[in-house]
Amino acid sequence: MHAQPKASHYINGAFVEDERGAALDVVYPATAETIARLHLATPNIVELAVEAARAAQPAWAQMKPMERGRILRKAAELVRARNAELARLETLDTGKALQETLVADPASAADALEFFGCAIAVYNGEHIELGGPFGYTRREPLGVTVGIGAWNYPIQIAAWKAAPALAAGNAMIFKPSENTPLTALALAEILTEAGLPAGLFNVVQGAGEVGAALVGHPGVAKVSLTGSVETGKKVMGLAGSQMKHATMELGGKSPILVFDDADVENAVGGAMLGNFYSTGQICSNGTRVFVQKGIYARFLERLTARTRAIRLGDPLDPETHLGPLISAAQRERVLSYIEAGRQEGAHLHLGGGVPSLQGLEKGFFVEPTIFTEVRDDMRIAREEIFGPVMCVFSFETEEEAIARANDTEFGLAAGVFTRDLARAHRVVGRLQAGSCWINAYNLTPVELPFGGVKNSGIGRENALTALDHYSQIKAVYVETGDVESPY
Ligand code: NDP
Repeated sequence: MHAQPKASHYINGAFVEDERGAALDVVYPATAETIARLHLATPNIVELAVEAARAAQPAWAQMKPMERGRILRKAAELVRARNAELARLETLDTGKALQETLVADPASAADALEFFGCAIAVYNGEHIELGGPFGYTRREPLGVTVGIGAWNYPIQIAAWKAAPALAAGNAMIFKPSENTPLTALALAEILTEAGLPAGLFNVVQGAGEVGAALVGHPGVAKVSLTGSVETGKKVMGLAGSQMKHATMELGGKSPILVFDDADVENAVGGAMLGNFYSTGQICSNGTRVFVQKGIYARFLERLTARTRAIRLGDPLDPETHLGPLISAAQRERVLSYIEAGRQEGAHLHLGGGVPSLQGLEKGFFVEPTIFTEVRDDMRIAREEIFGPVMCVFSFETEEEAIARANDTEFGLAAGVFTRDLARAHRVVGRLQAGSCWINAYNLTPVELPFGGVKNSGIGRENALTALDHYSQIKAVYVETGDVESPY
């Protein structure tokens, strides 16, 4: 299998190679087979990208917003037209089941391009009456922005950052995770084909050092990171030391609260989506599932039966539900958490092992795993695992469930399953989380803001509010009379 792009980087509207950069082998996680060889960016590549972005941005900012939007909407059309090929590439890059990438990844990227391509035409400042004189505000772009991605949703993350940045009149340099460098390059090509002038969306490959070099570059005005809390603190610290704008989309250990009156099948379906989709590598996953006592036995029975029916296998097979994890290192990390759970005395209710799949023996698979009898202070209940590992707890009262749900350093997401309308809204109002779902889980339409509170991040992606994070306000005072001066 081959997925070799024309070159490693995309700068100033064209593929660029610099073989002096260290080699980066791209691996298909289902077989550990190398599917492409790229090179990490050298300092020269970083300079070229920043120069190209700086040169292109001022003219782009001057363009009529609706015309900028038209290019993004054209790119959305192209992404949709190439959904099948982009989904396959995303599956090769991430190992996620084609069943998912065909409906979730390029589709979500296209939605972001379309949404911001439309929204920018009506995104304006304000007119402010001052009783004679008046004021107005302008929403001005920041300049050159940097996007840094995680491995789990590569094309989606690239588009969620690029679309609002470009719509608002900025240029962007995007650094994908070194685990998944391919689809951001495909997006760059599509943007060029849609008419985006050269230099406005650049992709450079690299690990953390390249990310840090971009964030610290004096020509860069803002960074938006999707990654872990640990990396977030470093990137935010560096950006802060230079007074740069920063958006942080970080990790989580989100709760799902299932009350006695919930529809069991829906609650089980939500909990499974919130733990096993993308092989559990989703920042907003509801990995702490709190189930009220009266429904606990039935919930666990249905959860067990439905989880047993999950099909693991070759991600390219349309029948496969669950693919491998991203890398051998991530599988080790997940298995070590499963071991820690057992050591600390949690009950391994289901899974926990490495499946034997014919022809995929070298892949990074882990069985969907369920722990019960978990205490709130165990590591598996407190730390982000980023794999298909669900912890199920029981609770008695609403008050208790809310307190336990909030007892975490994270605050990305939360879910509530109940048929009691008043309770649903009351509980959601008290949960410390940036994104909440009532009788659903992990749906992130571009029209709704997405992002976390507490250690899960700062700022929001998606919705109109994302445009606020890629622009700055200029206030203008206009005198309509004479200047009153005592001098
Ligand atoms: P990391 O934090 O390890 O890396 C994220 C990105 O930052 C990668 O591109 C990485 O490069 C880069 N990076 C690492 N160090 C630095 C640095 N010092 N300066 C600048 N950039 C740096 O996260 P993972 O890739 O391991 O992704 C998993 C994490 O991402 C999980 O914690 C998950 O919760 C979080 N996540 C959050 C989401 C959200 O929207 N809130 C969505 C998806 C994931 P490289 O890896 O190539 O070395």
